[in-house]
Amino acid sequence: MVLREIADREAAEAGSATLRVGYQGEPGAYGEVAAAAHGGAPHGFASFEKVLEALRDGGIDEAVLPMENAVVGAITEALEPLAQAVVDGLELVAVGLTSVPVRLSLAARPGTPLVEVKRAWSHPAALRQCTHRLASMGIERVVCYDTAGAAQIVAQDSSTDAAVCSRRAAERYGLEVLLEDVSDKEQNGTRFVHLRMADHARAQVPLAFLRTSSMTATGRLDVLTGATLLPLAGNAEFPVRMWVLGADAARLQALAPVRDVQVISLGQPAAHAAKMVPPKQGTEPVVKSLPFATARRPPTVVEVGPLRIGAGARAMIAGPCSVESPEQVMRIAREVAACGATALRGGIFKPRTNPYAFQGHGLDALEWLVAAGKETGLPVVTEVMAVDQVQPVAAKADVLQIGARNMQNFDLLRAVGRAGRPVLLKRGAGATVDEWLGAAEYVMASGEARVILCERGIRTFETSTRNTLDVGGMLAARPLTHLPIMADPSHAAGRADLVEGLARAAWAAGADGLIVEVHDDPARALSDGEQALVPARFQELSRALALHPDARLPLAQLRAWVDAIDHDLAELVQRRLEVARVIGDSKRKTGRAVLDPRREAAVRRTYLEALPGSRELADRLVDLLIQAARAQQSIED
Ligand code: PEP
Ligand code: MN
Repeated sequence: MVLREIADREAAEAGSATLRVGYQGEPGAYGEVAAAAHGGAPHGFASFEKVLEALRDGGIDEAVLPMENAVVGAITEALEPLAQAVVDGLELVAVGLTSVPVRLSLAARPGTPLVEVKRAWSHPAALRQCTHRLASMGIERVVCYDTAGAAQIVAQDSSTDAAVCSRRAAERYGLEVLLEDVSDKEQNGTRFVHLRMADHARAQVPLAFLRTSSMTATGRLDVLTGATLLPLAGNAEFPVRMWVLGADAARLQALAPVRDVQVISLGQPAAHAAKMVPPKQGTEPVVKSLPFATARRPPTVVEVGPLRIGAGARAMIAGPCSVESPEQVMRIAREVAACGATALRGGIFKPRTNPYAFQGHGLDALEWLVAAGKETGLPVVTEVMAVDQVQPVAAKADVLQIGARNMQNFDLLRAVGRAGRPVLLKRGAGATVDEWLGAAEYVMASGEARVILCERGIRTFETSTRNTLDVGGMLAARPLTHLPIMADPSHAAGRADLVEGLARAAWAAGADGLIVEVHDDPARALSDGEQALVPARFQELSRALALHPDARLPLAQLRAWVDAIDHDLAELVQRRLEVARVIGDSKRKTGRAVLDPRREAAVRRTYLEALPGSRELADRLVDLLIQAARAQQSIED
């Protein structure tokens, strides 16, 4: 049985003939099993180099190469030629993975007694998988190019030599199986990668190739939770080289020291680019002393009703700095809910620099906040400043906020950790990323796993902004923790005119969410009026971040929303036409055909994936785009 790791791959291009899939070896080889796994027609080649050449020259549509075996690890025999081909400029993408269970048999010509067998032929990778078993029987290993090829050699020979191959290959060449399962490990299996030319397919599996001459450079790759590292022996020119499976190139680039490491990516699934890779089981936390906050585990998703944050889900928490009256918070809640906010914020206990400034309406305001949340269907987020506030607030609020000033109030952290509510943990204005994670550890160690980190600006020498939004710190925290990380552009800016820019910057940098202060009468706000967005500005921001409005928004404003989308769409179409023209020019220069049916099939797949359930719309859009590109080409011609 073949395990299909990427089960939903399309078996063949829409409308075209059967996919021709190249593998290395004779019929009956494990490569043939992988090549046939997705409905393709297998074609055997004598070497991995020949498979890759055939792919380059169009003799096959797809190549399958073994990458990794459960017993011996990286299959350097295949990975080295692949690295060479990539270095030589072959533009490939990885479109799938197939795991083939490997059961190696020792087979000889019928009638050969096991004790007479002195030599066993096979592919070096297969021989390495049964080093100990063969040695214990005093059988010498003889290298040839393929497991099935070994069976063929033995069948044509008149000696008592045996082959290490699959039962299938043994039977195919008329050999008798003397021993089943001669590999050194019970659960043996080989992972094959399916490769296609980059201009004919979209990458679906992140696979990157690293060139580096320094061993220490690869040490930090340990942080790549979940990635499979496939080291190669390398050559004199690049003493250490490595394939990395399961980590996108952007993360590799970020982790690898700049000097001396070159990352060559065979692509990554576009739709999954922002997602974290799953962690490797049973490995140490990233920071040993912070086992909860930096555990290597899949991204934590915090979910309370419509508020969903982490692992690609993004949140928008909005509302006033302070809950000032039942009417004020109700009005603002309606405004932000209509714009697609997923939670309502509002302070009831306010940490103020000046003791005579408004301190919050306390537990009365909690009732007003909760009522507004109920009315609009939004969960509510509010700050607790003292241990004795935790219980009464946790009884009614959905998320407990720890303010920047309290990030290292350890008793408070422990108390919210026991309260049974998710915690939004602001970073202190003078706290390092490590200290911030340490604070999260307090909450988690006290029992609460649902912690959301929030960067809200740190104190620097700069006085033109209230704080400095530390997007770099936010990004630096990303590979260290599975917890969602959001940004607060309002407290970072301290000025309404900068909020949208900072919000967009944090969003573009991959923040899992934003918390934004909104007030419908900032001039009369009881706190932080200078940095509050009025509802109309908040609406523009929400539109820019592609939030979904709801039917409560007045019709004219909903139209403005859809107008903005149309504007973006039209601009994207224009951009697409321009780039398509550049591609056409480039193809003409190099004498390649401008129109390519396989390329067209790949474009159709992209639209179908983005428009699930709207096949006709997807097809018609592609038709229009291709028609436009053609019209443009003939004008040029
Ligand atoms: C707030 O969210 O209103 C607040 C006081 O934030 P911070 O603790 O980040 O200053
Ligand atoms: Mn505030």
